[in-house]
Amino acid sequence: MKDSAQTPNPDPDPDPDPDPQNSIIKITNLSKQFDGIEVLRDINLNIKKGEVVSILGSSGSGKSTLLRCINWLEQPERGAIYIGDKRIGVDADTNKPAKYKELAKMRQRIGMVFQSFNLWPHLTVKQNVMEALIHVKHWSKAAAEEMAETQLKKVGMSHKLDSYPNMLSGGQKQRVAIARALAMEPEVLLFDEPTSALDPELVDEVLTVMKTLSKEGYTMVIVTHEMEFARQVSDQVVFLEKGILIEKNPPEKFFTSPDSIRVRQFLKLDLDPADSRIYTQTT
Ligand code: ADP
Ligand code: MG
Repeated sequence: MKDSAQTPNPDPDPDPDPDPQNSIIKITNLSKQFDGIEVLRDINLNIKKGEVVSILGSSGSGKSTLLRCINWLEQPERGAIYIGDKRIGVDADTNKPAKYKELAKMRQRIGMVFQSFNLWPHLTVKQNVMEALIHVKHWSKAAAEEMAETQLKKVGMSHKLDSYPNMLSGGQKQRVAIARALAMEPEVLLFDEPTSALDPELVDEVLTVMKTLSKEGYTMVIVTHEMEFARQVSDQVVFLEKGILIEKNPPEKFFTSPDSIRVRQFLKLDLDPADSRIYTQTT
């Protein structure tokens, strides 16, 4: 991670007005390539404090890359990402790559939950949640323990504090991963397909926790294939296709009368015969 923080970003601040009052995340003109192939193209997205934004799109459309750019696990070639009024990854004074310490500080403001949980197998549930509080935030053991117990209670895992991850179901592991993210008190939570690795019967317990968080006012960006869930919790639904943000709408509009033919097709909504003709001709 240290090395990647040093990747040069030649792009000067393209947006002198990061709109700090309204946006907790502001993405402007973001483009990212892998091996010369553009996987994100000129993405613009504003997320307000307390908003829940779902990102949909078929596999390979750039959803994970977009989330990873937000916390600078990937460095874009162009564009900027603001967390509040601070640009991530780039030093505001010198326009050079941010120092690792500064980047680490910014990353603490952003919690991330992965499909694969990423719990430490040799630590108990409680120790997994305490780990970063002690080693990154330098909290005392007692304070970390209290926070871990509070967050594990919130996700319904108080009965498993001393269990090891391999004793848990996938749904339980993911709830612990969510508690671990919450314990860092982030301003933004990013979820990358949090239920995609779970057996179907375990999906709901994780979605229920996420719904509770959305009601509590957490700002959440969620990559998901759970359409009904996205419809229920989102303030905005975003659709990516081949790295392009082709639609952004409130859920009622997105799921019933989306603007783009591609989204209508993705949702298997009835296509006007003329629309389907246009779509097949242009792809
Ligand atoms: P999604 O999450 O929507 O499935 P990704 O963001 O993972 O899509 O990937 C977008 C595109 O970028 C895909 O074509 C994928 O193969 C490519 N890609 C993602 N990560 C890398 C990487 N580290 N190196 C090279 N190509 C990558
Ligand atoms: Mg992905």
